[in-house]
Amino acid sequence: MSKEEMSLIYITDELAQKTAKLLHSFALRRPSEGVVYWFGIESGNKAVITTLVVPDADTESGAVRTSVEANARAISVIIGTPLVYVGQAHSHPSAYVRHSHVDDECTFAQFEGVISIVVPWFGKNGLNINECGVYRHIGGSFQRVKNVEEHLVILPAFADLRQCTAMEE
Ligand SMILES: [Zn+2]
Repeated sequence: MSKEEMSLIYITDELAQKTAKLLHSFALRRPSEGVVYWFGIESGNKAVITTLVVPDADTESGAVRTSVEANARAISVIIGTPLVYVGQAHSHPSAYVRHSHVDDECTFAQFEGVISIVVPWFGKNGLNINECGVYRHIGGSFQRVKNVEEHLVILPAFADLRQCTAMEE
């Protein structure tokens, strides 16, 4: 698959920040990386993330591992829906957002076009796309992408354009 045929992935700012919040929830009891799977609707060469799934990951070591069973349960959420697996986000403890060897080898569901986002600081500061490592599975392995906007676009989730707010009523 060439880059031109790969889906451009869209996510709302609300789900992007919810992703960071869920990642940070892994680190509340003790420092730990976390993982969130992204599912959505893919059509033409666009994919829109609609659904976040947190697998029952093993974080004993401070890094994330997911068993075959945990991943099967994560996938079961989308059975009977038009949703497909689009990729995942995982957290790192510091500002360092390059894929580790383990990330390259062990990340769940490796096929052409899937996206992998590395969120710094255990997700504590939200998902600021310019601080994240953005990877896609291209030609058989994860490659860090430089032109992030050609791969991932963050959309507004809602807008309230009322000039008088309910508070002022
Ligand atoms: Zn990692």
